[in-house]
Amino acid sequence: MADEHCIYDVAVCGGGVVGLATALALAAAGRRVALIERQPPVRAYGSLGFDARSVALTPASVGFLRNVGAIDASELTAIDTMRVWEYDGAAALRFRAPVRGPLAWVVENSALTVRLWRLAAERVALFAPADLTALSAQRQSVALLCQCGASQGGAAHKRIEARLVVAADGANSPVRSFVGGAMRRERPPWSGRQRAIVTVARLQEPHRNTAWQRFGRTGPVALLPFADAHTVAVIWSAAEAVVKDLEGLDDAAFRLALDAEVEGAGGGIDAVDRRFCFPLQQSLAHDFNPAPRVILAGDAARTLHPLAGQGVNVGLEDARAIAAAASEGDLGQSGRWRRYASARRRRSKQMLALMRWLLSAYCGADAGKPWRRLARNEGVRLIDSSPAIKAHLVREAMGFGPLAAS
Ligand SMILES: Cc1cc2nc3c(=O)[nH]c(=O)nc-3n(C[C@H](O)[C@H](O)[C@H](O)COP(=O)(O)OP(=O)(O)OC[C@H]3O[C@@H](n4cnc5c(N)ncnc54)[C@H](O)[C@@H]3O)c2cc1C
Repeated sequence: MADEHCIYDVAVCGGGVVGLATALALAAAGRRVALIERQPPVRAYGSLGFDARSVALTPASVGFLRNVGAIDASELTAIDTMRVWEYDGAAALRFRAPVRGPLAWVVENSALTVRLWRLAAERVALFAPADLTALSAQRQSVALLCQCGASQGGAAHKRIEARLVVAADGANSPVRSFVGGAMRRERPPWSGRQRAIVTVARLQEPHRNTAWQRFGRTGPVALLPFADAHTVAVIWSAAEAVVKDLEGLDDAAFRLALDAEVEGAGGGIDAVDRRFCFPLQQSLAHDFNPAPRVILAGDAARTLHPLAGQGVNVGLEDARAIAAAASEGDLGQSGRWRRYASARRRRSKQMLALMRWLLSAYCGADAGKPWRRLARNEGVRLIDSSPAIKAHLVREAMGFGPLAAS
Protein backbone atom coordinates (compact mmCIF):
# COMPACT_ATOMS: atom_id res chain seq x y z
CA MET A 1 0.00 0.00 0.00
CA ALA A 2 2.82 2.42 0.88
CA ASP A 3 4.18 4.38 -2.11
CA GLU A 4 7.57 6.06 -1.66
CA HIS A 5 7.06 8.60 -4.42
CA CYS A 6 3.45 9.71 -4.19
CA ILE A 7 2.10 12.77 -2.46
CA TYR A 8 -0.73 11.56 -0.23
CA ASP A 9 -3.92 13.57 0.08
CA VAL A 10 -3.67 13.18 3.85
CA ALA A 11 -1.11 11.94 6.35
CA VAL A 12 -2.70 11.03 9.66
CA CYS A 13 -0.18 11.01 12.50
CA GLY A 14 -1.26 8.68 15.32
CA GLY A 15 -2.95 5.30 15.18
CA GLY A 16 -5.16 5.54 18.26
CA VAL A 17 -8.92 5.21 17.88
CA VAL A 18 -9.31 8.75 16.53
CA GLY A 19 -6.44 8.61 14.02
CA LEU A 20 -7.48 5.19 12.70
CA ALA A 21 -11.15 6.16 12.38
CA THR A 22 -10.20 9.42 10.62
CA ALA A 23 -7.92 7.56 8.19
CA LEU A 24 -10.61 4.99 7.38
CA ALA A 25 -13.31 7.63 6.89
CA LEU A 26 -11.02 9.63 4.58
CA ALA A 27 -10.16 6.48 2.60
CA ALA A 28 -13.90 5.77 2.27
CA ALA A 29 -14.29 9.32 0.88
CA GLY A 30 -11.84 8.32 -1.87
CA ARG A 31 -8.69 9.96 -0.45
CA ARG A 32 -5.15 8.54 -0.56
CA VAL A 33 -4.19 8.28 3.06
CA ALA A 34 -0.96 7.52 4.90
CA LEU A 35 -1.02 6.72 8.61
CA ILE A 36 2.04 6.96 10.83
CA GLU A 37 2.09 5.12 14.15
CA ARG A 38 4.86 4.60 16.64
CA GLN A 39 3.51 1.41 18.17
CA PRO A 40 0.94 -0.80 16.39
CA PRO A 41 -1.84 -1.96 18.76
CA VAL A 42 -1.92 -5.42 20.33
CA ARG A 43 -4.89 -7.17 21.91
CA ALA A 44 -4.59 -7.05 25.72
CA TYR A 45 -6.28 -9.29 28.32
CA GLY A 46 -6.07 -9.20 32.09
CA SER A 47 -6.50 -12.03 34.58
CA LEU A 48 -10.31 -11.59 34.57
CA GLY A 49 -10.40 -11.98 30.77
CA PHE A 50 -10.78 -8.31 29.77
CA ASP A 51 -8.51 -5.40 28.81
CA ALA A 52 -8.21 -2.97 31.75
CA ARG A 53 -8.67 -0.04 29.34
CA SER A 54 -12.15 0.34 27.94
CA VAL A 55 -14.29 3.19 26.66
CA ALA A 56 -17.99 3.93 26.66
CA LEU A 57 -19.01 4.85 23.11
CA THR A 58 -22.14 6.85 22.34
CA PRO A 59 -24.63 5.37 19.85
CA ALA A 60 -23.59 8.22 17.52
CA SER A 61 -19.93 7.06 17.69
CA VAL A 62 -20.93 3.42 17.16
CA GLY A 63 -22.99 4.48 14.11
CA PHE A 64 -19.96 6.28 12.66
CA LEU A 65 -17.62 3.34 13.31
CA ARG A 66 -20.18 0.96 11.82
CA ASN A 67 -20.19 3.07 8.64
CA VAL A 68 -16.44 2.58 8.29
CA GLY A 69 -16.92 -1.16 8.89
CA ALA A 70 -15.15 -1.20 12.26
CA ILE A 71 -17.84 -2.57 14.54
CA ASP A 72 -18.15 -6.15 15.61
CA ALA A 73 -21.36 -6.38 17.67
CA SER A 74 -19.91 -9.24 19.74
CA GLU A 75 -17.28 -6.86 21.16
CA LEU A 76 -19.84 -4.32 22.41
CA THR A 77 -21.73 -4.40 25.71
CA ALA A 78 -24.85 -2.27 26.05
CA ILE A 79 -25.37 0.16 28.92
CA ASP A 80 -29.15 0.09 29.41
CA THR A 81 -29.34 1.81 32.79
CA MET A 82 -27.17 4.30 34.59
CA ARG A 83 -27.16 5.29 38.24
CA VAL A 84 -25.33 8.43 39.40
CA TRP A 85 -25.05 9.39 43.06
CA GLU A 86 -22.71 10.95 45.59
CA TYR A 87 -21.04 10.55 48.94
CA ASP A 88 -23.03 13.16 50.79
CA GLY A 89 -26.81 12.96 50.36
CA ALA A 90 -29.52 10.58 49.29
CA ALA A 91 -30.42 12.05 45.87
CA ALA A 92 -29.56 9.91 42.83
CA LEU A 93 -30.06 10.11 39.09
CA ARG A 94 -31.32 7.09 37.21
CA PHE A 95 -31.18 7.04 33.43
CA ARG A 96 -32.78 4.38 31.30
CA ALA A 97 -32.24 3.60 27.65
CA PRO A 98 -34.93 4.89 25.33
CA VAL A 99 -37.02 2.14 23.74
CA ARG A 100 -34.96 2.05 20.54
CA GLY A 101 -31.56 1.23 22.00
CA PRO A 102 -28.95 1.44 24.76
CA LEU A 103 -27.59 4.61 26.37
CA ALA A 104 -24.04 3.71 25.34
CA TRP A 105 -21.80 0.77 24.47
CA VAL A 106 -18.69 -0.40 26.29
CA VAL A 107 -15.77 -1.70 24.26
CA GLU A 108 -12.26 -2.72 25.26
CA ASN A 109 -9.70 -0.28 23.86
CA SER A 110 -7.40 -2.93 22.44
CA ALA A 111 -10.28 -4.82 20.76
CA LEU A 112 -11.36 -1.64 18.99
CA THR A 113 -7.90 -0.42 17.96
CA VAL A 114 -6.82 -3.87 16.70
CA ARG A 115 -10.01 -4.10 14.60
CA LEU A 116 -9.48 -0.58 13.19
CA TRP A 117 -5.82 -1.39 12.53
CA ARG A 118 -6.66 -4.51 10.49
CA LEU A 119 -9.05 -2.52 8.33
CA ALA A 120 -6.54 0.28 7.94
CA ALA A 121 -3.93 -2.24 6.74
CA GLU A 122 -6.25 -2.99 3.78
CA ARG A 123 -7.29 0.56 2.97
CA VAL A 124 -4.52 3.03 3.80
CA ALA A 125 -0.71 3.14 3.62
CA LEU A 126 0.50 2.22 7.09
CA PHE A 127 3.91 3.36 8.31
CA ALA A 128 4.52 1.47 11.55
CA PRO A 129 6.37 1.19 13.76
CA ALA A 130 7.39 4.69 12.72
CA ASP A 131 8.23 7.63 14.93
CA LEU A 132 7.51 11.05 13.48
CA THR A 133 10.65 13.11 14.11
CA ALA A 134 10.25 16.23 11.95
CA LEU A 135 7.75 18.07 9.82
CA SER A 136 8.38 20.85 7.30
CA ALA A 137 6.15 22.97 5.11
CA GLN A 138 6.74 22.66 1.34
CA ARG A 139 5.20 24.92 -1.30
CA GLN A 140 2.12 22.74 -1.87
CA SER A 141 2.44 20.02 0.73
CA VAL A 142 3.94 19.05 4.08
CA ALA A 143 6.93 16.71 4.39
CA LEU A 144 7.02 14.35 7.37
CA LEU A 145 10.20 12.60 8.45
CA CYS A 146 9.89 9.30 10.29
CA GLN A 147 12.24 6.89 11.92
CA CYS A 148 10.99 3.44 11.02
CA GLY A 149 11.60 0.26 13.09
CA ALA A 150 15.21 -0.79 13.57
CA SER A 151 16.40 -2.76 10.55
CA GLN A 152 19.78 -4.50 10.37
CA GLY A 153 21.23 -2.65 13.28
CA GLY A 154 19.94 0.80 12.40
CA ALA A 155 16.63 2.58 12.05
CA ALA A 156 15.54 3.52 8.54
CA HIS A 157 14.36 7.04 7.79
CA LYS A 158 11.37 7.67 5.62
CA ARG A 159 10.04 10.87 4.10
CA ILE A 160 6.31 11.10 3.51
CA GLU A 161 4.65 13.97 1.69
CA ALA A 162 0.99 14.94 2.00
CA ARG A 163 -1.33 17.83 1.12
CA LEU A 164 -2.82 17.78 4.61
CA VAL A 165 -1.62 16.50 8.00
CA VAL A 166 -4.13 15.38 10.63
CA ALA A 167 -2.50 15.38 14.05
CA ALA A 168 -4.18 12.58 16.00
CA ASP A 169 -1.04 11.86 17.97
CA GLY A 170 -2.42 12.24 21.47
CA ALA A 171 -2.29 14.75 24.31
CA ASN A 172 1.44 15.46 23.91
CA SER A 173 1.07 15.75 20.14
CA PRO A 174 4.51 15.97 18.46
CA VAL A 175 2.86 17.45 15.33
CA ARG A 176 1.34 20.26 17.39
CA SER A 177 4.76 20.94 18.95
CA PHE A 178 6.55 20.91 15.57
CA VAL A 179 4.26 23.65 14.23
CA GLY A 180 4.33 25.66 17.48
CA GLY A 181 0.64 25.08 18.34
CA ALA A 182 -0.15 26.18 21.89
CA MET A 183 -2.25 24.22 24.38
CA ARG A 184 -3.94 25.79 27.41
CA ARG A 185 -3.94 23.49 30.42
CA GLU A 186 -6.80 24.12 32.83
CA ARG A 187 -6.26 24.75 36.48
CA PRO A 188 -8.30 22.05 38.21
CA PRO A 189 -11.07 23.12 40.63
CA TRP A 190 -9.41 21.11 43.41
CA SER A 191 -5.92 21.54 44.82
CA GLY A 192 -3.25 19.28 43.32
CA ARG A 193 -3.37 16.89 40.41
CA GLN A 194 -5.83 14.09 39.67
CA ARG A 195 -5.03 10.67 38.31
CA ALA A 196 -7.18 7.76 37.22
CA ILE A 197 -6.71 4.22 38.39
CA VAL A 198 -8.28 1.69 36.00
CA THR A 199 -8.86 -2.02 36.39
CA VAL A 200 -11.45 -4.77 35.95
CA ALA A 201 -13.59 -6.13 38.78
CA ARG A 202 -15.95 -9.04 39.29
CA LEU A 203 -19.27 -8.34 41.04
CA GLN A 204 -21.16 -10.74 43.26
CA GLU A 205 -24.45 -10.02 41.47
CA PRO A 206 -25.01 -9.65 37.73
CA HIS A 207 -24.61 -6.06 36.47
CA ARG A 208 -27.77 -6.23 34.34
CA ASN A 209 -26.14 -3.83 31.86
CA THR A 210 -26.00 -1.07 34.46
CA ALA A 211 -23.31 1.61 34.65
CA TRP A 212 -22.65 3.10 38.08
CA GLN A 213 -21.06 6.48 38.73
CA ARG A 214 -20.48 7.64 42.27
CA PHE A 215 -18.95 11.02 43.07
CA GLY A 216 -16.68 10.45 46.04
CA ARG A 217 -15.04 13.13 48.18
CA THR A 218 -11.90 13.24 46.02
CA GLY A 219 -13.30 12.28 42.62
CA PRO A 220 -15.69 10.05 40.69
CA VAL A 221 -15.57 6.27 40.32
CA ALA A 222 -17.37 4.51 37.47
CA LEU A 223 -18.24 0.84 36.89
CA LEU A 224 -19.03 -0.08 33.28
CA PRO A 225 -20.55 -3.45 32.30
CA PHE A 226 -18.66 -6.01 30.22
CA ALA A 227 -20.05 -8.91 28.18
CA ASP A 228 -19.62 -11.27 31.15
CA ALA A 229 -22.66 -10.64 33.38
CA HIS A 230 -20.54 -10.23 36.54
CA THR A 231 -17.57 -8.28 35.18
CA VAL A 232 -17.14 -4.49 35.03
CA ALA A 233 -14.50 -1.97 34.03
CA VAL A 234 -13.43 0.31 36.89
CA ILE A 235 -12.34 3.93 36.33
CA TRP A 236 -11.54 5.65 39.61
CA SER A 237 -10.36 9.26 39.43
CA ALA A 238 -8.98 10.87 42.55
CA ALA A 239 -6.37 13.24 43.92
CA GLU A 240 -2.81 12.11 43.21
CA ALA A 241 -2.11 11.34 46.89
CA VAL A 242 -5.21 9.11 47.12
CA VAL A 243 -4.25 7.25 43.94
CA LYS A 244 -0.74 6.76 45.30
CA ASP A 245 -2.19 5.14 48.42
CA LEU A 246 -4.52 2.98 46.32
CA GLU A 247 -1.61 1.89 44.15
CA GLY A 248 0.16 0.58 47.24
CA LEU A 249 -2.71 -1.75 48.21
CA ASP A 250 -2.71 -5.47 47.46
CA ASP A 251 -5.70 -7.06 45.70
CA ALA A 252 -7.63 -7.83 48.88
CA ALA A 253 -7.21 -4.33 50.33
CA PHE A 254 -8.00 -2.64 47.00
CA ARG A 255 -11.12 -4.77 46.63
CA LEU A 256 -12.33 -3.58 50.05
CA ALA A 257 -11.50 0.07 49.29
CA LEU A 258 -13.39 -0.10 45.98
CA ASP A 259 -16.34 -1.86 47.56
CA ALA A 260 -16.60 0.90 50.19
CA GLU A 261 -16.23 3.65 47.55
CA VAL A 262 -19.12 2.31 45.42
CA GLU A 263 -21.16 1.47 48.52
CA GLY A 264 -21.60 -2.18 47.64
CA ALA A 265 -22.91 -1.57 44.09
CA GLY A 266 -23.47 -4.85 42.24
CA GLY A 267 -23.82 -6.76 45.52
CA GLY A 268 -20.19 -6.16 46.40
CA ILE A 269 -16.81 -6.69 44.71
CA ASP A 270 -15.66 -10.29 44.43
CA ALA A 271 -12.29 -9.91 42.72
CA VAL A 272 -10.09 -7.25 41.10
CA ASP A 273 -7.47 -7.35 38.36
CA ARG A 274 -4.11 -5.52 38.13
CA ARG A 275 -4.36 -1.71 38.32
CA PHE A 276 -3.05 0.88 35.81
CA CYS A 277 -2.72 4.62 36.41
CA PHE A 278 -3.17 7.57 34.05
CA PRO A 279 -2.54 11.28 34.62
CA LEU A 280 -5.63 13.45 34.12
CA GLN A 281 -5.65 16.94 32.70
CA GLN A 282 -8.18 19.13 30.95
CA SER A 283 -6.63 21.12 28.11
CA LEU A 284 -7.57 22.88 24.90
CA ALA A 285 -5.50 23.83 21.85
CA HIS A 286 -5.61 27.53 20.94
CA ASP A 287 -6.10 26.73 17.29
CA PHE A 288 -7.30 23.43 15.77
CA ASN A 289 -5.69 24.53 12.47
CA PRO A 290 -2.38 25.75 13.95
CA ALA A 291 -0.46 25.94 10.65
CA PRO A 292 -1.33 25.81 6.95
CA ARG A 293 -2.17 22.22 5.94
CA VAL A 294 -2.18 20.98 9.57
CA ILE A 295 -5.30 20.25 11.64
CA LEU A 296 -5.72 18.70 15.10
CA ALA A 297 -8.10 15.91 16.15
CA GLY A 298 -8.79 13.83 19.26
CA ASP A 299 -6.62 14.31 22.34
CA ALA A 300 -4.14 16.35 20.27
CA ALA A 301 -6.85 19.04 20.13
CA ARG A 302 -8.27 18.78 23.67
CA THR A 303 -8.23 16.48 26.65
CA LEU A 304 -11.27 15.94 28.85
CA HIS A 305 -11.63 14.50 32.32
CA PRO A 306 -12.99 10.93 31.82
CA LEU A 307 -15.88 11.37 34.27
CA ALA A 308 -18.47 11.54 31.50
CA GLY A 309 -16.58 9.17 29.18
CA GLN A 310 -16.53 11.65 26.28
CA GLY A 311 -12.87 11.87 25.12
CA VAL A 312 -13.02 9.32 22.31
CA ASN A 313 -16.57 10.32 21.46
CA VAL A 314 -15.65 13.97 20.90
CA GLY A 315 -12.56 12.80 18.99
CA LEU A 316 -14.77 10.69 16.74
CA GLU A 317 -16.93 13.78 16.14
CA ASP A 318 -13.69 15.42 14.86
CA ALA A 319 -13.11 12.43 12.57
CA ARG A 320 -16.65 12.67 11.20
CA ALA A 321 -16.32 16.43 10.62
CA ILE A 322 -12.98 15.97 8.81
CA ALA A 323 -14.35 13.24 6.54
CA ALA A 324 -17.47 15.32 5.78
CA ALA A 325 -15.33 18.29 4.68
CA ALA A 326 -12.87 16.23 2.64
CA SER A 327 -14.84 15.01 -0.33
CA GLU A 328 -13.08 16.99 -3.08
CA GLY A 329 -10.23 19.32 -4.08
CA ASP A 330 -6.84 20.02 -2.50
CA LEU A 331 -7.32 19.33 1.19
CA GLY A 332 -4.54 21.74 2.08
CA GLN A 333 -6.09 24.77 0.35
CA SER A 334 -5.73 27.96 2.34
CA GLY A 335 -8.76 28.66 4.56
CA ARG A 336 -10.36 25.28 3.97
CA TRP A 337 -10.20 24.18 7.63
CA ARG A 338 -11.08 27.42 9.43
CA ARG A 339 -14.69 26.37 9.84
CA TYR A 340 -13.68 22.96 11.17
CA ALA A 341 -11.27 24.65 13.59
CA SER A 342 -13.80 27.09 15.00
CA ALA A 343 -16.76 24.67 15.20
CA ARG A 344 -14.78 21.89 16.84
CA ARG A 345 -13.09 24.28 19.28
CA ARG A 346 -16.49 25.69 20.27
CA ARG A 347 -17.81 22.17 20.91
CA SER A 348 -14.70 21.30 22.95
CA LYS A 349 -15.14 24.42 25.09
CA GLN A 350 -18.70 23.31 25.93
CA MET A 351 -17.50 19.86 26.99
CA LEU A 352 -14.62 21.27 29.03
CA ALA A 353 -17.00 23.68 30.79
CA LEU A 354 -19.42 20.85 31.60
CA MET A 355 -16.66 18.67 33.12
CA ARG A 356 -15.28 21.68 35.03
CA TRP A 357 -18.72 22.46 36.42
CA LEU A 358 -19.35 18.86 37.52
CA LEU A 359 -15.92 18.51 39.08
CA SER A 360 -16.19 21.80 40.91
CA ALA A 361 -19.71 20.96 42.19
CA TYR A 362 -18.62 17.58 43.57
CA CYS A 363 -14.88 17.85 44.24
CA GLY A 364 -14.10 21.62 44.37
CA ALA A 365 -12.83 23.46 47.44
CA ASP A 366 -16.36 24.16 48.86
CA ALA A 367 -17.97 20.92 47.68
CA GLY A 368 -18.29 19.75 51.28
CA LYS A 369 -20.06 22.92 52.51
CA PRO A 370 -23.69 22.35 53.61
CA TRP A 371 -25.17 24.85 51.09
CA ARG A 372 -23.30 23.15 48.23
CA ARG A 373 -24.49 19.72 49.30
CA LEU A 374 -28.06 20.99 49.62
CA ALA A 375 -27.96 22.67 46.18
CA ARG A 376 -26.51 19.52 44.56
CA ASN A 377 -29.02 17.17 46.11
CA GLU A 378 -32.00 19.44 45.36
CA GLY A 379 -30.78 19.89 41.76
CA VAL A 380 -30.36 16.14 41.30
CA ARG A 381 -33.83 15.47 42.77
CA LEU A 382 -35.36 18.03 40.43
CA ILE A 383 -33.67 16.51 37.36
CA ASP A 384 -34.52 12.95 38.40
CA SER A 385 -38.20 13.81 38.72
CA SER A 386 -38.36 15.62 35.36
CA PRO A 387 -38.73 13.23 32.39
CA ALA A 388 -38.32 16.12 29.90
CA ILE A 389 -34.96 17.27 31.33
CA LYS A 390 -33.76 13.67 31.57
CA ALA A 391 -34.75 12.92 27.99
CA HIS A 392 -32.80 15.99 26.84
CA LEU A 393 -29.70 14.96 28.85
CA VAL A 394 -29.91 11.41 27.51
CA ARG A 395 -30.11 12.65 23.91
CA GLU A 396 -27.00 14.82 24.41
CA ALA A 397 -25.09 12.02 26.18
CA MET A 398 -25.94 9.65 23.32
CA GLY A 399 -24.48 12.11 20.81
CA PHE A 400 -27.79 13.03 19.17
CA GLY A 401 -28.59 16.33 20.94
CA PRO A 402 -28.34 19.82 19.40
CA LEU A 403 -24.99 20.53 21.12
CA ALA A 404 -23.41 17.30 19.85
CA ALA A 405 -24.65 18.02 16.35
CA SER A 406 -23.47 21.67 16.32
C1 LIG B 1 -8.83 6.53 32.53
C2 LIG B 1 -9.45 7.01 31.28
C3 LIG B 1 -10.73 6.57 30.92
C4 LIG B 1 -11.35 7.03 29.75
N1 LIG B 1 -12.60 6.61 29.43
C5 LIG B 1 -13.21 7.08 28.31
C6 LIG B 1 -14.54 6.67 27.93
O1 LIG B 1 -15.20 5.89 28.62
N2 LIG B 1 -15.08 7.18 26.79
C7 LIG B 1 -14.39 8.06 26.01
O2 LIG B 1 -14.93 8.51 24.99
N3 LIG B 1 -13.12 8.46 26.34
C8 LIG B 1 -12.53 8.00 27.45
N4 LIG B 1 -11.26 8.39 27.78
C9 LIG B 1 -10.53 9.30 26.88
C10 LIG B 1 -9.89 8.54 25.74
O3 LIG B 1 -9.12 7.46 26.21
C11 LIG B 1 -9.02 9.47 24.90
O4 LIG B 1 -9.75 10.63 24.58
C12 LIG B 1 -8.63 8.76 23.60
O5 LIG B 1 -7.86 7.61 23.86
C13 LIG B 1 -7.85 9.67 22.67
O6 LIG B 1 -7.63 9.00 21.46
P1 LIG B 1 -6.63 9.58 20.38
O7 LIG B 1 -6.67 8.62 19.25
O8 LIG B 1 -6.93 11.02 20.13
O9 LIG B 1 -5.21 9.59 21.10
P2 LIG B 1 -4.29 8.38 21.63
O10 LIG B 1 -5.11 7.21 21.99
O11 LIG B 1 -3.40 8.98 22.67
O12 LIG B 1 -3.44 7.97 20.35
C14 LIG B 1 -2.34 8.73 19.91
C15 LIG B 1 -1.47 7.82 19.07
O13 LIG B 1 -0.39 8.62 18.49
C16 LIG B 1 0.80 7.84 18.52
N5 LIG B 1 1.96 8.74 18.48
C17 LIG B 1 2.31 9.69 19.40
N6 LIG B 1 3.43 10.29 19.03
C18 LIG B 1 3.83 9.73 17.85
C19 LIG B 1 4.95 9.93 16.98
N7 LIG B 1 5.93 10.84 17.22
N8 LIG B 1 5.04 9.19 15.85
C20 LIG B 1 4.08 8.26 15.57
N9 LIG B 1 3.00 8.02 16.38
C21 LIG B 1 2.89 8.75 17.49
C22 LIG B 1 0.70 7.04 19.83
O14 LIG B 1 1.52 5.88 19.80
C23 LIG B 1 -0.81 6.71 19.90
O15 LIG B 1 -1.09 5.46 19.32
C24 LIG B 1 -10.64 7.95 28.93
C25 LIG B 1 -9.35 8.39 29.28
C26 LIG B 1 -8.76 7.93 30.45
C27 LIG B 1 -7.37 8.42 30.84
